[in-house]
Amino acid sequence: MKPSILSPEDARFILMLERAGVLQTHDGSKLETGNGIILVTCSDGDKILEFLEHIEELIREGGGKFRPHIFAGHGGAMLIAEDCPLYRKECADQFLLSQIADAHEMKDISTVILMVHAPCGAAKKAHLTVVQELAHLVRAKHRVKSVMPQLKVSCFIDVHYADGGKKILFVSPEAFETWYAAQSKAQHIVQGSGFEDLLLHPDQSGNLFP
Ligand SMILES: [Zn+2]
Repeated sequence: MKPSILSPEDARFILMLERAGVLQTHDGSKLETGNGIILVTCSDGDKILEFLEHIEELIREGGGKFRPHIFAGHGGAMLIAEDCPLYRKECADQFLLSQIADAHEMKDISTVILMVHAPCGAAKKAHLTVVQELAHLVRAKHRVKSVMPQLKVSCFIDVHYADGGKKILFVSPEAFETWYAAQSKAQHIVQGSGFEDLLLHPDQSGNLFP
């Protein structure tokens, strides 16, 4: 399979989400990385070194210690979301949650960085748009915090543009949820059915993101 190229639709969503404050440039000063980080990322062998470089830059800018304790799987941190369609049979979510818990205990690291990227081959395989990736990422954060509230959890997306440009962006879960609610309202989508359904089933009628 050829390497994926960011689709114009996803590029548009990324720009829209930047303008809405969901995706933000980040200087690393808010990252508390006293004793290192637990990093959950996609395995992508063409990109993983860049992910690490980007994360290292952020941490150094914030004056923290770059001590990455890494868990990688195709799709990255979105696998932790309960409804992520990737690797359900293999219980990737439970596996990653237990790895994070053990890393926290064994290595005394309390900062978790949850990361996805776009374009991602695993997302493509599961027919997920970048908005769906981010929805899973946000849910992954909530899940980690609900199981291990003592951990500090930050979310990032690494973007590779079709023209070769690339950057890492901080994802604000609160801003994502606000943005999504506003989008749903604007589209007169019935609230209460849960945005997960709309996001996770692209062929469902009324979906914002076909
Ligand atoms: Zn990937």
